Order: sequence, then structure tokens, then C-alpha cells
Amino acid sequence: MLAEKWREGLAGSEAVIIANADDPLVTWAASSCRRVVWVAAGQAYREDAWSCPSCGGVMQRPGEDWYCAACGFRRPQPHWALNGDHVIDPQGSAWPIRLQLPGRANLSNATSSAAVAAVFGVHPQVALQRMEAVQAVAGRYESVQFAGREVRLLLAKNPAGWLETFTLIDPAPAPVVLSVNALGADGTDTSWLWDVDYERLVGHPVFVMGQRKLDLAVRLEVAGVHFQVVDSLAQAVAAAPPGRIEAIANYTAFQQLRRDVRG
Ligand SMILES: [Zn+2]
Repeated sequence: MLAEKWREGLAGSEAVIIANADDPLVTWAASSCRRVVWVAAGQAYREDAWSCPSCGGVMQRPGEDWYCAACGFRRPQPHWALNGDHVIDPQGSAWPIRLQLPGRANLSNATSSAAVAAVFGVHPQVALQRMEAVQAVAGRYESVQFAGREVRLLLAKNPAGWLETFTLIDPAPAPVVLSVNALGADGTDTSWLWDVDYERLVGHPVFVMGQRKLDLAVRLEVAGVHFQVVDSLAQAVAAAPPGRIEAIANYTAFQQLRRDVRG
């Protein structure tokens, strides 16, 4: 529905659209525009893009490619690409990405951002140097000291974001705090918890908090993850075994964590 709204809204626009060619729904939304810069930025989470947005057919997804055999809707040829930890520009030159921000998703963001900067005449090397200076984004990825422990604050708002976050946290047995709220900005329906692959947290000591800690607890029980329900970050940190604590929260829960660590 969202892709369709974007597609309708963008139809006939003179704007330059920078879009991820690896995401069929984004491609569908953007392909109503005349001027699209396609970026092969990757797509780790594919569970919401197996049916063709054009005809409803089953999407074929061999390797990085994707297409619909029924109607011919297919992945456009990208102008820019993320290749390992390099941005490949439209001339085929490779530029190294040396971000302070962790994770594959941020390499993907950097690639898209380099493509955006180029539209404004900024050379990829210059754009990437500026991105490399970024240490945190509104508190995201920030490591803070709290109650004598190091806590890294990570925001995850949807299944794709949670998946990307699980790939960058310290390996088990690093302690993990999860906090989920369901206020307006979060969405009041938490059924998306069932689309998140929480099985990946097996082996981590996990602490759950937030408004919807019991919904999260049920989800983790089904996933076979050992966890403890707590009332506060202070309680989680006091009970956590040694090591940097990875605190992952959705939108308003993340804002609450930031207030908690400031004291
Ligand atoms: Zn199709």
C-alpha cells in the first residue's frame, strides 16, 4: 500500500529520485518517475517482498537479482552499487567506505548518500569523508556509561531494522537489553514482533523491558531465547553479566533509554 502511494505521488514528478534497485517495492514506487538514479544498496530482509507489486506473481530472487516471470517487472540496471565496503560510482570507480557507524545497513546508507550528494555536484570521495566523521545519529549507535557499565544504544523500528541490528551486536554471550513500546510513534499494533527473527539472540543473556515487555517475552519464549523481564534499565544493567551491554529499542522506547542513561 505504501509503495503504491509513493508510486502515485511520484508519478510525473520532475524530481530526481534516488532509489534502491535491490528492493522490489522501492523499485515499484520509484519507477513511475522519469529521473531515477538506481542504487544497488542491498536488501537483507526480503520477507515482505516475495510477491510482485505489479501483478501479484511470485518474485524470483536468484542471488542479488530479482524479477517477476509473469509480467516482466525486474530489477533495473543500477548506476551506483555497494560492493563489500566500497561504493562503485557510475564510472565504475570504487571508493572505500570507512565509517565509524557499524553494520551493513550503514554501508548501504553511505552508498545511497553518495549517490544523492553526486546529484548536488559533490564528488563521492568528498561526500564519504564527511560521512566518516559521523559518530552517532541522534543517539543511535552511541556507547554511553551507565551505572559503571558500557551500554550501546541501538534503534530498531521494524523487522528489517531488527535484522540489521542483530548482525552488528557483539557476539554471544554479550548481554542484550530489549525495550519495546507501543505509543503513537511506534505503532500500537505489535504483531510485527512475530516477523522479527529473535532466534538469532539464542546464547545471549537477554533482558526485556518497556510497555510491551510481556508481548516481547511471549515472542522470546517461542523463539527459545533465555530472558529476564525487568522494570528498568538500571535493573537490567545490575543483573547483566560482564561485557558491553547492547540495548535495542523501538522508537519511543529508544528515547526513554536516552533519558535513562542521562540520569
Ligand atoms: Zn509481475
